[in-house]
Amino acid sequence: MTRTSRIPGFYKVTVPERRAMVSDATGADVGDLARSLDGGGLDTETADKFVENVLGTYAMPYGVALNVRVNGKDFVVPMVVEEPSVVAAASNAARMVRAGGGFTAEIDDPLMISQIQLVHVPDVARATEAILGAREEILERADAAVPGLVARGGGARDLEVRTLDHDMIVVHVVVDCRDAMGANLVNSVAEGVADRLAELAKGEVGLRILSNLSDRRCVRVSCRVPADVLATDTLPGDRVIDGIVNASRFAELDPYRAATHNKGIMNGVDAVVIATGNDWRAIEAGAHAYAARDGRYAPLATWRKDGDALVGRIAMPMALGTVGGTLRVHRAARLSLRMLGVSSAGELAAIAASVGLASNLAAVRALATDGIQRGHMALHARSVALAAGARPEHVDRVAAMIVEARDITVDAARRAMATLEASASAAAE
Ligand code: NAD
Repeated sequence: MTRTSRIPGFYKVTVPERRAMVSDATGADVGDLARSLDGGGLDTETADKFVENVLGTYAMPYGVALNVRVNGKDFVVPMVVEEPSVVAAASNAARMVRAGGGFTAEIDDPLMISQIQLVHVPDVARATEAILGAREEILERADAAVPGLVARGGGARDLEVRTLDHDMIVVHVVVDCRDAMGANLVNSVAEGVADRLAELAKGEVGLRILSNLSDRRCVRVSCRVPADVLATDTLPGDRVIDGIVNASRFAELDPYRAATHNKGIMNGVDAVVIATGNDWRAIEAGAHAYAARDGRYAPLATWRKDGDALVGRIAMPMALGTVGGTLRVHRAARLSLRMLGVSSAGELAAIAASVGLASNLAAVRALATDGIQRGHMALHARSVALAAGARPEHVDRVAAMIVEARDITVDAARRAMATLEASASAAAE
C-alpha cells in the first residue's frame, strides 16, 4: 500500500466517512480509530494514575492535517487543537508546499543537555580544568546512570563547562536520548555525576536537571512554493510572494510581530506535539528561548523570494519522543504514532516542524492578502453557532447566516436559529 496524505473532499464528509478514508490512506484500522478516539482516548481511572487530585478528563478536538509530504514521504498528521481554522490552514498550506515537492528536513542527533550547577567553587579556572581532565570518567559515570538507554545505542556524548560567576560553574553532559524525549533520562544522568563533579570542583552541588533549550537537537525544514499556487482571486502569485517576504521582514525587525509570527508556527507544532503524547511546555520553552538566543527575540521561520518561487525556512529545537513519557500511554497518542508510522523521534520532529512551517505560511499568506479575519471568522462562526446551542444539523447553516450578516455573535446565532426553526415549523404546517 502507498501511503498518501492527499485525500480530496475530506472536509466535506462525515466523521465515520473520514475515519474510513484515513484507514485507506494510512492502513490504520477503523475499529482501532474508534476505540482510540471515542471517549477522548483516556478514562478517568487511567488519568488518576497520571496526575494528582483527578476529578475527570478534558477532551479536545482531534483532526488530521492532509497533504503533508516530508523528505518524499507522505504523512496524515494528527493535530489536537481547540482553535478553529488551524487544521484547515495547515492542510491548505501543505498542499501549496506539495506543489513544490514538499518539505525538506534535516534533523540533528537526539542530543539533550543535562545541567549540573556547582556553587561555592573556590577557583573556577582550576575546577574547569579538573572536570575537563576527568572527561572520560564522567561520561562513563553518566552512561552507568542510564544503562537501558546505552543498550539502545544512546548515552553520554560530550562534556562542557561554562563559567556563570566567580564562584559558580555549570557542567553540561550532552546525552543522546535516541527515541525518547529524554527529560527523565537526562535528569538521572545529572544526579549520577553531580557528586563527583562537586568533588573535582571543590564546590557544592546546586541544581541537577535538563535544559529545555535543547539547541543540540534542532530540526531545520525548508520548502519551495511555486508562485502560481500562491495566487488568490484578486492577487497574482508574485504579488503574494512580495507580501509574504515583507511579512517575514516585519517579524525579523520587530519582536512584537515576531511573537505573533511564532505563535502561528506553534499553532501547528503544539497540535502535533499534543496529539503524539509529547510535552508541549518543553517544546514551547525551547522554541522561545531559541528564538531569543541572539539577545533579541526573532522569528523561527523566514521567507524569501527565489526566482519565481517562495522559499521558507524554519529552525527550532524539537525534543520529541516516540517512546517513554506518561502521555504516550494515552490511547489516542498511541494511535497518532501508529497512524504516522514514524521510524524515529527525529522523523516525528521533522513532521512537527513542517506543520509549523505550513501554519506560518497559511497565516502570512492570509495576512498579506485578504487579512486573517475572512477565513478565520468563517470557521469561528461554527464555534459561535455551537455556543449559541445550535443543533448539530443546523450548525453549518447558522454559521453561514451569521457570516453573511457580518455579525458573528452568540446573539446573532440565536436569531439565526429562531429564523431557521420558524421556517422549519412553517414548512411542517
Ligand atoms: P522516560 O522516563 O519514560 O524514559 C524513556 C525510557 O524509554 C527509558 O527507560 C529508555 O531506556 C526507554 N526506551 C525504550 N526504547 C527506547 C529508544 N528507542 N530510545 C530511547 N529510550 C528508549 O521518558 P523521558 O523521555 O526520559 O522523559 C520524558 C518525560 O519527562 C515527559 O513525560 C516529560 O513531561 C517529563 N519531564 C519533563 C521535564 C522538562 O521538560 N523540564 C522535566 C521532568 C520530566
